Amino acid sequence: MSDYIDILNYIDGELQPAQSQQWLDNIEPATGHVYSRLPDSDASDIDAAYRAAKAAFPLWKNTSIDERARLLNAIADRIDAWQDALAEAESIDNGKPVSLACSVDIPRASHNFRFFAHAITQWASESHSMGATGFNYTLRDPIGVVGCISPWNLPLYLFSWKIAPALAAGNCVVAKPSEVTPMTAFLLANICREVGLPRGVLNIVHGLGAKAGNAIVSHPGIKAISFTGGTKTGEHIARTAAPMFKKLSLELGGKNPTVVFADCDVDKTLNEVLRASFANQGQICLCGSRIYIERPIYEKFKAALVEQASQLIVGDPQEKATQQGALVSKAHMDKVLSYIALAKQEGGKLLTGGEALQLDGRCKDGYFIKPTVFENLDIGCRTNQEEIFGPVITLTPFDDEQQAIAYANGTGYGLAASVWTENLSRAHRVAAELEFGIVWINCWLLRDLRTPFGGVKQSGVGREGGVEALRFFTEAKNVCVRL
Ligand code: NAD
Repeated sequence: MSDYIDILNYIDGELQPAQSQQWLDNIEPATGHVYSRLPDSDASDIDAAYRAAKAAFPLWKNTSIDERARLLNAIADRIDAWQDALAEAESIDNGKPVSLACSVDIPRASHNFRFFAHAITQWASESHSMGATGFNYTLRDPIGVVGCISPWNLPLYLFSWKIAPALAAGNCVVAKPSEVTPMTAFLLANICREVGLPRGVLNIVHGLGAKAGNAIVSHPGIKAISFTGGTKTGEHIARTAAPMFKKLSLELGGKNPTVVFADCDVDKTLNEVLRASFANQGQICLCGSRIYIERPIYEKFKAALVEQASQLIVGDPQEKATQQGALVSKAHMDKVLSYIALAKQEGGKLLTGGEALQLDGRCKDGYFIKPTVFENLDIGCRTNQEEIFGPVITLTPFDDEQQAIAYANGTGYGLAASVWTENLSRAHRVAAELEFGIVWINCWLLRDLRTPFGGVKQSGVGREGGVEALRFFTEAKNVCVRL
């Protein structure tokens, strides 16, 4: 045990193990080996975190906006200063290429803190004049103690996406990162201690979803839950939290379409469609896994995409040249492989990939899958309907705009879609018809943190980002004055 790094809970400003002294193994996906351990926390740890947060709330709520912003900026500065070490830690913990963690995950985590540090200083109360009769002003008070629960695919990035607005708005937080990727949340706790975040304002508790996560959701004192994760988990959380009248923001799964029209800029589109398909091994909720291609360019586009997918470098995530790292866990790799088997059973024609990859050397026991492309699958089959969340895409030709829209809208999910065309009228026409929370035109994952972020249908309820997040993490109180 002595070689392990012990990840600790951060409660009331102190780093500590679970009260039960129970631990969970933390595995490096690229090697399949246990390399650290994390607290297996339960309801007693969550309650301790809640009590610390509740005690800190009066102070934090009354801390000036400038001081809150200063502390959030200080956290962002420390993340920037530690960027390389954090990127390496994220890559080891999650299996993602270190180049991706360095260019996307960690910079975006610091950006989240910096963005909400600034956003809160610019947030104004609304007022509504009733002329000579009176006027209204709307106070937006912090809620109190809120819960933030995040997934494993973009660990620090999505954790900070919730924590930053919650803290900026004056709440105290009980947060739980995924038990599959706890390391950078632990490093964040160290950063919070370094910058002098007052004790109890942020509490980070590690452990299993069904135990520690469920204890957050069912705690009567935690008044709002911001959750990002799978749709099934979201359903469970909604069922638990709804009778307690908690505020809920649910950012759930997706099965996102990529709609490629024959009049697109083919070279530009190919590069971006490849990225949208396989970035982070296809483990981004926004990845486009259903690719619809207009028939006149279908064969040409397919051949080029398959060629590029087959050339992606799958390797040790710690190597700079690696483009595809490991999947996050053995269980997840098995799930993705089971979908590949299903796609074959459903009549899919395999164009490239379709199997696990065994690397040599230190990664010989890691969880790698070759980028995989299928065609010839029915629109309604399970492969085309269910979220796989791995490096697996399907290609389908379409004949006209209406058919493309029907295909794109034809699943239970509604997170994000991308549309590729040089015809401006068509782009806007199609965007208006797509039943998704986010539509990208001639781009993918181009983010502006001021914009509403979230999905419709089974992809969730509520929006995060910019003012939407600040609204979620506050209660509006209207004060009406008669003149
Ligand atoms: P998950 O639902 O298994 O777990 C997410 C988090 O919830 C983890 O911290 C987990 O411990 C916790 N959890 C699990 N059961 C719980 C319970 N009963 N009560 C409270 N908390 C519980 O999801 P995952 O496998 O970590 O992540 C992958 C999923 O997340 C995919 O479906 C993906 O699409 C989705 N996702 C969505 C978005 C988005 O913005 N919409 C972003 C990233 C990932």
